[in-house]
Amino acid sequence: MSETVNTFEAQQQGRPTGPLVRGYEVIIGFETHAQLSTASKIFSRASTAFGAEPNTQACAVDLALPGTLPVMNKGAVERAIKLGLALGSHIAPRSVFARKNYFYPDLPKGYQISQFEIPVVQGGAVSFFLGEEKKTVRLVRAHLEEDAGKSLHENFIGQSGIDLNRAGTPLLEIVTEPDMRSTAEAVAYAKELHKIVTWIGICDGNMQEGSFRCDANVSVRKPGDKLGTRREIKNLNSFKHMQQAIDFEIRWQIEEIEDGRKVEQATVLFNADTGETRAMRAKEDSADYRYFPDPDLPPLVIAADWIERVKATMPELPRAMAERYVRDHGLSEYDATQLTQSTALARYFDEAVSAGAAPKLASNWITGEMARRLNAAEIGIEAAPVKAQQLGQLVKRIADGTLPNNAARVVFDALWTGEGSDVDAIIEAKDLKPMSDTGALDAILDEVIAKNAKNVDEYRAGKEKALNGLVGQVMKASGGKANPAQVTELLKAKLG
Ligand code: ADP
Ligand code: MG
Repeated sequence: MSETVNTFEAQQQGRPTGPLVRGYEVIIGFETHAQLSTASKIFSRASTAFGAEPNTQACAVDLALPGTLPVMNKGAVERAIKLGLALGSHIAPRSVFARKNYFYPDLPKGYQISQFEIPVVQGGAVSFFLGEEKKTVRLVRAHLEEDAGKSLHENFIGQSGIDLNRAGTPLLEIVTEPDMRSTAEAVAYAKELHKIVTWIGICDGNMQEGSFRCDANVSVRKPGDKLGTRREIKNLNSFKHMQQAIDFEIRWQIEEIEDGRKVEQATVLFNADTGETRAMRAKEDSADYRYFPDPDLPPLVIAADWIERVKATMPELPRAMAERYVRDHGLSEYDATQLTQSTALARYFDEAVSAGAAPKLASNWITGEMARRLNAAEIGIEAAPVKAQQLGQLVKRIADGTLPNNAARVVFDALWTGEGSDVDAIIEAKDLKPMSDTGALDAILDEVIAKNAKNVDEYRAGKEKALNGLVGQVMKASGGKANPAQVTELLKAKLG
């Protein structure tokens, strides 16, 4: 496995670190807004619950009524600390809130409280596999800020409605270096970051509801040139749209350059209906926002012992867990990565193993049959009708020889449909036990030996392989219920 770290040096030297598109190198940097899963807003006590009637969850602070003051939500800071710990970032002992000034109807204060010069989380990196290759995308920073409200256009003719329920919702904006070199790498980065924020429980990750929104900054250049002008695709709220939008944007920029035009810096929107990106406005520079420290909020001070306390509550991270599965359970890197896609999946595997399942076999069932069924039913592992305990029992019975491999599907089906709930009871009721009592098996053996004189002779003449044919015949005659190892032994004894 090779490791590619897209270093600044590599960019400076003009070494392409990803595939070229029509001779152009693609450069991508991400800004992701993760909505933090606090019950109340970042500077007020109003609820953050999604989907309420417009303007029922906006208090005086969110409405920016005169005389109100923001009060920092400790839970939001704790979640920022968790991200910093998960990504190996520096957690600033002292960070500063700043006002980002702009005018928009959904922003009653006329400014957004954000962090500018000194963000709470600095540096760090996200690592993931792109195929066989390990990629590392460096973070610039992650800063705390409040969300704005929403403009409503549906049901309004000739006017817009404003819903301030979202105003003041806590966000962590996570900014990368321009380290990504292809659409595939960008999408893989976003998926990995999504996995991490949901894994450590700081964000519910619901992309449809806007809890995890990505802005993709895209530029292209000829290898060796300095960085090209970027356009920023705003608010990508599904991985599919992300891929389509970036692919389109890359093609569009290359066309522009090839046609002799210059790419202008811009903010663009992706239209899912046409699959195209379109400029929304010329890009503002940070100077346009007239940032200055917010006098209503003192600097955010995070003492070392607070970080230690938060650290003690951190779960084992997916990468560490996958490495442990490889080490302790002998799983392949691929299977271990599959099983650590979500805490729910990993917990399911752990429970199946605690129920007595051999890890490798449990992993095969979960990433194989179970994954197929879940996919077909379009449900997650949390909703699987076969519980971890039951799958553990099923796997245990395969391993201890009381459930023939080819009958295991029957048991799985019965569990899935709810026809039965206890593995042993299903084996009993459906008469799936292997045929081990010698009476019935003996009769089959004798019959198979009588009918397959050729194989018998060959085996006796020293052709070991001929035995396989006989074992197969016995298995068939027993309806798959005989134990192949036992049949082999019995045949050898009889023919010996
Ligand atoms: P802002 O968008 O707020 O002005 P920055 O200038 O810091 O902030 O850049 C935002 C994002 O754009 C970062 O993720 C950065 O990696 C990315 N970026 C910067 N320059 C380029 C470029 N030439 N091509 C692609 N992405 C870029
Ligand atoms: Mg930006």
